Parts: sequence; C-alpha cells; structure tokens
Amino acid sequence: MGKPANGKAGAGREVTQAEWAAHEARQPTGLVWAVVTTGIHCRDGCPGRPLQRNTRAFATRAEAEAAGFRACKRCGGGG
Ligand SMILES: [Zn+2]
Repeated sequence: MGKPANGKAGAGREVTQAEWAAHEARQPTGLVWAVVTTGIHCRDGCPGRPLQRNTRAFATRAEAEAAGFRACKRCGGGG
C-alpha cells in the first residue's frame, strides 16, 4: 500500500485544537493518532511530530487499521 489517496486511509475525524494541544503537551488522550501522509497510527507520547492537518483521530486501534493505517514502528501504534 502506498500513500493514502481518496478514500481508504483518509478516514477518521479531524483532530480538535484541544486534543492537539493535549497531544503536544504529551498528555494522555486515549486516542489513536493516524497520520494520513505516512499511513501509520500512533499512541499518545510518540516522538513522531506530524502536522495537525495531516493527523486524524480514531477511538480505537481496530478502527484505524480498518481504515488502512499500520502501527507505528517507534511507539507500537495507538489503542
Ligand atoms: Zn508512533
């Protein structure tokens, strides 16, 4: 699978400012952070720092993977 195009790995919802602020502050949010430009999903506190506009939030790892995202190799993925 290459980069997500229209559809598959572009699912999820946009991250809110409040959620993003918590993520940047490395506070636990319980969300799965999926990055549309890389096709991976991360947990809270992952050292990866994607742009907010490239990031989507999922409630569970299963939802992120169903949308075509793979677990991050650095943090093991979200959820
Ligand atoms: Zn990660």
